[in-house]
Amino acid sequence: MKALKYRGPWDVAIEDVPDLHATGPDDVVVDIAYTGICGTDLGVVAGYYPVAVPGTTLGHESTGVVAEVGPEVAGVAVGDRVVINPTPYCGVCRMCRTQRINHCVNKDGTESGISYDGTYAHRYRTTSRFVHRVPEHITLQGAALTEPLSCVVSGVRKIRPTSLTAFTYVFGAGPLGLLYAWALSWQGLSPVVVETAPARLAFANKVLPQGIRAYGSLAEARREHFGDVNAPIDVVVDTTSGLLEELYEELAPGGIFMSIGLKRKKVTVDAMHLADRSLSVIGSIDSLHGSFDEAFHMITSGRLPAERLVSHVVPLEEYRTGFAALGCDIDRRVLAGADTESCKVLIASAPEAGR
Ligand SMILES: [Zn+2]
Ligand SMILES: [Zn+2]
Repeated sequence: MKALKYRGPWDVAIEDVPDLHATGPDDVVVDIAYTGICGTDLGVVAGYYPVAVPGTTLGHESTGVVAEVGPEVAGVAVGDRVVINPTPYCGVCRMCRTQRINHCVNKDGTESGISYDGTYAHRYRTTSRFVHRVPEHITLQGAALTEPLSCVVSGVRKIRPTSLTAFTYVFGAGPLGLLYAWALSWQGLSPVVVETAPARLAFANKVLPQGIRAYGSLAEARREHFGDVNAPIDVVVDTTSGLLEELYEELAPGGIFMSIGLKRKKVTVDAMHLADRSLSVIGSIDSLHGSFDEAFHMITSGRLPAERLVSHVVPLEEYRTGFAALGCDIDRRVLAGADTESCKVLIASAPEAGR
């Protein structure tokens, strides 16, 4: 079978690898249909996220059809359409027992697409706990957004504003920015999105939920959305990795700044200001207890029209085109901001495998 391998920064290639089969009693092997390109993948390819292990197959936001199961697998069968939870955890270590499954001490070497062979491939092997059957009315393209939404759900759980009137800003209209806009609105907040790339801004305004808009700058968002050029900044979700220092002094007392980008950037902030103004600076990037199930529910119940966030679907062999749509030019070794009308780009391993 084919698999997209990470060999080192800017060095990725499709390789022929041995077919995967169910060898353990609880193994589930999935014929991959779609995998979303994640910001993490761009960071890995560009060498910004050094935890990736050379030789690993990339990809983790994935759906497909069960191809083989081990003899002890229950609840899922060959032919079932499934979404994959790519973040395994043991369930018994201290981290798992204290609601921090994403930091499971036993998951070393098992993070799909980082240290364990992921889903930019024809097949992927996991265990029965980490696949969920996709109901008939949901497409495998839409269900592929479950994992990024899970990361967003776990982030939004940490945002606890003192009032639903909190002036809330999401910076960046990539998939995570748009998913945060949705998830914050489920919490009762009325966020506004700020995106400086015109093409992304245009795409965002076609797909955001009613009442939520994206603007080209913070000033425009304050003026147009909140009707006040000095509208307070109570809650910030920064998907760009770059804004903490710039917005820190502007946060309203009690303000919350959530940083979810993975670009390396050192900043200097005043600790006295943090305490004196009761600020919260929070980091969040991955799934927490139950967030995958919660995200899957929001998709299967129709609360998130996930398919509308899919802007491109490209075959596995044309992965460079998919990465390029997100500003990652593998041939020229350049990672810039996306300047196409792009949001979630899916790599199709086997489009014929299902909707
Ligand atoms: Zn992801
Ligand atoms: Zn654990």
